[in-house]
Amino acid sequence: MSKETKRRQALIYHAKPQPGKIKVVPTKPYSTQRDLALAYSPGVAEPCKEIHKDKDQVYKYTAKGNIVAVISNGTAVLGLGDIGPEASKPVMEGKCLLFKIFADIDGIDIELDTKDVDTFVETVKTMAPTFGGINLEDIKAPEAFEIERRLKEELDIPVMHDDQHGTAIISAAALLNALELAGKEIDKVRIVISGAGAAAVSCTRLYKAFGAKGENILMLDSKGVIRKDRENLTPEKQEFATEMELDTLDEALVGADVFIGLSVADIMTAEMLESMADNPIVFAMANPDPEISYDLAIKTRKDIIMATGRSDHPNQVNNVLGFPFIFRGALDVRATKINEEMKMAAVKALANLAKQPVPEQVNIVYGETRLAFSRDYIIPKPFDPRLISEIPPAVARAAMESGVAKEPITDWNRYEAELLV
Ligand code: NAP
Ligand code: MG
Repeated sequence: MSKETKRRQALIYHAKPQPGKIKVVPTKPYSTQRDLALAYSPGVAEPCKEIHKDKDQVYKYTAKGNIVAVISNGTAVLGLGDIGPEASKPVMEGKCLLFKIFADIDGIDIELDTKDVDTFVETVKTMAPTFGGINLEDIKAPEAFEIERRLKEELDIPVMHDDQHGTAIISAAALLNALELAGKEIDKVRIVISGAGAAAVSCTRLYKAFGAKGENILMLDSKGVIRKDRENLTPEKQEFATEMELDTLDEALVGADVFIGLSVADIMTAEMLESMADNPIVFAMANPDPEISYDLAIKTRKDIIMATGRSDHPNQVNNVLGFPFIFRGALDVRATKINEEMKMAAVKALANLAKQPVPEQVNIVYGETRLAFSRDYIIPKPFDPRLISEIPPAVARAAMESGVAKEPITDWNRYEAELLV
């Protein structure tokens, strides 16, 4: 299919039969005078009074507990950059669609016309009573770090910047499994991270939480290896700066076990890949084109374990494996946060799921004959129906065990059955 045909298909998909991808539908009867008197005045005053007496009743009488706001200011949209709030709206609507179809969460997209951190934070805080959770999306670094940090501190509903943590969670699950296949230990491997932006920083932090050692990690930005002796490093870059006297990607990669690409296309050559250790793990996640093309990488190293951000190759690191299910688990126990424990629980549940036998319907959806845990299948596929039954309970349990669940689950059998409906 030509590029022009694809472009037109995408535009028609968005424009017809009605503009956009989501709408609001009522959930209560509304066909009689009685129904309307309950839905609106005078009946509606009763839940208002209950909630006025006890704010928590808002979860019982309104849709709050199942609504997640998908909020952006359009400053770092896909690979398109700062295209503004209106132009980011298709992406945010798309995220709402994914929330709905994968986890039956009502996503409401909100595009804010501000680049100012204080204004952004105040605006979201002001509208927080409406929502059960906040998914921050496509906000430029470093502002995104501060916006997320402040909102997490100041709000008592779960807040997650998906560009940081989604990628971290999915790639960490893939990394644990890749290491298992390679027969290597996370606390011993040498890891090279290309990129020092929002995604790279949060991925590296999570890998460290799973045992990766700071002294075994080299991070590079557009200027090369981030060294301690470099001037004007941001606090995030200082956190990962090395004492080693190396400057370039080819120097960094000699003997490395793991390459994590969260930077730009085609910066890794065949020679660099040749220089890596046995069973090299290469997650080349720059979108749309990876740091080294899949075909070149596979041709260069027969022993490679490779993942990309793309759906046309095995092992796609796709955020949709995370956010719908993480928010599902968080909302279902009314978690006040999405904390490290919950993220790590999601990682372990995802990694574990990839090792279980794959249901036939997943093979059929993906046109595969026999998906099974191997170099070409280290993370589950998005249309795996077991994601909804495996990930939210793991996240909900972690929320309860870490003390952030306001409505703990008592009947797990019932909860797991409800997830499948
Ligand atoms: P970002 O915050 O803009 O960070 C980009 C980073 O790449 C910056 O640190 C930049 O260096 C660095 N960089 C630029 N050119 C480089 C080069 N030649 N060598 C090494 N580093 C270089 O962007 P982001 O949100 O972290 O995303 C980064 C990339 O990861 C994008 O391609 C994005 O599509 C991809 N990504 C993929 C997934 C996925 O597969 N699921 C998820 C998230 C992101 P400076 O700091 O010096 O500017
Ligand atoms: Mg995003």
